[in-house]
Amino acid sequence: MNADLHCHSNVSDGTLSPEAVAQRAHANGVQLWALTDHDEVGGQHRAHAAAKGLGMGYLPGAEISVTFANETVHIVGLGFDPDDPVLCEGLAQTRGGRERRARDMADDLARVGIEHAFEGALKYVGNPDLISRTHFARYLVEIGVCSDPHEVFRRYLTEGKPGYVEHRWAKLADAVRWITGAGGVAVIAHPGRYDFTPNEEFALFTEFKAHGGTGVEVVTGSHTVAEYQKYADMAIEFDLLASRGSDFHDPTESHTDLGTLPDLPGRLTPVWEALSHRILQP
Ligand code: AMP
Ligand code: MN
Ligand code: MN
Ligand code: MN
Repeated sequence: MNADLHCHSNVSDGTLSPEAVAQRAHANGVQLWALTDHDEVGGQHRAHAAAKGLGMGYLPGAEISVTFANETVHIVGLGFDPDDPVLCEGLAQTRGGRERRARDMADDLARVGIEHAFEGALKYVGNPDLISRTHFARYLVEIGVCSDPHEVFRRYLTEGKPGYVEHRWAKLADAVRWITGAGGVAVIAHPGRYDFTPNEEFALFTEFKAHGGTGVEVVTGSHTVAEYQKYADMAIEFDLLASRGSDFHDPTESHTDLGTLPDLPGRLTPVWEALSHRILQP
């Protein structure tokens, strides 16, 4: 099964519309797709309609920003009811602080001589409720401060660098509860990307499970091949379902295209096997 259960549209920090992401996924051979915009389900009905029109299976999705042990962790929700009022209210709260944060980021960039970054980033925003660091990164590339977004995240917008603003996102317990309460499965996104010690990582997996989380991304565009192995072992150790997703944002910025990752290791249980009753068939 070619499943791609993690990617973004211009409803969050991707550059393509939900319809264009659907078309690209389908053209790349994806059979089961989920659009997982950051902290937002505003694109879900469009994504489902587009998948249906293309004959592609669909799972509703979202990627929720969480603060755990003073780090930002992402939790992907899959197969939930996108109209669930508690989930929608939780996501609205999570998005709520983004404009204030963006203004503070722009003030901090002005300190190092980069002016008008708020207005600059806004030009790239498709959803005014969802201004993200990615939009600032595109603006810093536009004005020639950096040559690509990866350089931006090395030199700016991250802890200790200009433009970084500390932010408190949702609690792990709340994010998992919003997802499972809406009938979905909660998945730890790209665990290899966090700067955790082994003890902190163990605590994340343990607490996530205690709150009712049941999945982990193993094969993702954010992992190395060695990390596929490491998190396959963790999935077995913690008895978690395994997920697969490109984390595609844009045809030129993203190094992994939709539907092009290797298969999950055969010893794992794919998250879509537990979600077969939630898959919206074309
Ligand atoms: P935010 O939710 O506003 O903090 O923005 C986070 C987004 O920034 C992520 O979802 C990625 O799209 C992007 N991002 C974060 N770190 C990097 C990085 N090192 N390289 C490229 N993009 C990144
Ligand atoms: Mn993103
Ligand atoms: Mn993420
Ligand atoms: Mn993502």
